[in-house]
Order: sequence, then structure tokens, then C-alpha cells
Amino acid sequence: MSSVLVSHPTVIVLLGPPGAGKGTHAGPLSEKLSLPHISTGDLFRSHIREQSKLGAIAKSYIDAGKLVPDALALDMLFDRISKSDCAQGCILDGFPRTVAQAEALDQRFKGEAQLVALNFDIPDQALVERITGRIACKECGRPYHLRFDPPKNPTRCDGCGGTLYQRADDTVEIVLKRLEVYHAQTKPLIDYYKQGALRLKNIDSNQRKDQVLNDLLEAVAPHFAKC
Ligand code: AMP
Repeated sequence: MSSVLVSHPTVIVLLGPPGAGKGTHAGPLSEKLSLPHISTGDLFRSHIREQSKLGAIAKSYIDAGKLVPDALALDMLFDRISKSDCAQGCILDGFPRTVAQAEALDQRFKGEAQLVALNFDIPDQALVERITGRIACKECGRPYHLRFDPPKNPTRCDGCGGTLYQRADDTVEIVLKRLEVYHAQTKPLIDYYKQGALRLKNIDSNQRKDQVLNDLLEAVAPHFAKC
């Protein structure tokens, strides 16, 4: 499935609380749809690894479980989506996180992209265990869960043999703060996208991974020639 029905780029926005499965499904979706997966969290983390000025500022917010200021997130995201691999569109994971970011994204495309928002719906109770048990490969980014999807060797990636690590902000204390921030600042986006000509599709993400991926593909199918 790769040919886009219309000439406009297709921007798929993955909405939902931390731990809902946005990052896990963005990879397979990106492969199926031939659209790049852009995670603002990953972009910030790579700035932190490179010790850039932006990375130093972002780190202080991320470590506290807060959102990085809109202006910084927007500049970084717009710079990324101006690259040629986004000409047909992209899959946004973790952006927008505020209504101001969503409005800026709409402004940026001025109706010249079809935007589809997929809301990963999951009760809060399921999230803390999901997040605090997740680990990922430093090399290829493959995600695992210590209980639900453990690697064969607890320190090495099954796929590439890279080192597995836990994100510094995936501790219980920071997760609770991130959930609070989600409810206050990001959840209002559900209403924002509901108001815009049925652009929001709800996905039950408290199901088996393959079922969630199926539902996601079904939800985007009308926007692509083949699914
Ligand atoms: P994530 O990897 O999406 O869970 O993001 C990790 C952290 O990066 C968040 O808790 C925020 O501190 C920051 N972050 C990621 N995306 C954004 C965004 N669009 N706006 C502001 N902060 C963000």
C-alpha cells in the first residue's frame, strides 16, 4: 500500500496518551504507507544525545515530565517536515501536543495536505504498567516490553543485537506527571480534531498489537489507493 489517492500530501497525526502504542505502531504504519515516521520525542532525544543547545533546553522539560515550549517543538518539527522525504506526507508521533501546535500545523499546510488524526484510546490504568516496563534498542529503536513482549536476552535486541535501554522519563514518578500533562494540554486536541470535518478516527489501543495495527490500516484505507 503506497500510492496516495490525491496529489496533496497526507499527514497522519497519532494522538493519545504516553504508552498508548503510538511509537510501537508508527514503524509498521510507516512501512505499509511508505511515509516517514516523525517522532518529536525522538528528535528531542537525538538533540540531547548530540548535546546541542536545543537538546540542553529540551532535557530540562523532558526530565520533569513537562512539554517543551511550543515554539521550540514547532521550529524543530517544521524543519524536519520541510525535507524532501515528506513530499508525500508523513506520520507524526507526539506532535501536535497542544492546541497551539495543532493550529500552527493547520496554518503550515493551509489546506494543502489531507490531515488524518488517529486517536489511540486506552484507559489510564493500563498505561503506567505499559510505560514503566518498556525498553528499546539503542541501535535500531525496536521497542520491547519486559512483561508483554520480552526480548530473548534482557539486554540485547533480538533483531540487531544492539543494547536495550529504558528511557529516563519512563519512571513511575515522571509517567504520572506526563499523564497529568496529557490530560491538561494534549487531550483537548481530541475535540479540536472532532470539530474539523470528521478528521478524527478513534482506535481502541487496549487490544492485541496485530488487531490495533489492523484497525489503524482500516482507518487510513480510504485515504490511500490500496490498503
Ligand atoms: P514522547 O517520546 O512523545 O513520549 O515525548 C517525550 C517528551 O518529549 C515529552 O514528555 C515532552 O517533554 C517532549 N515532547 C515530545 N513531543 C513534544 C511536543 N510536540 N511538544 C512539546 N514537547 C514534546
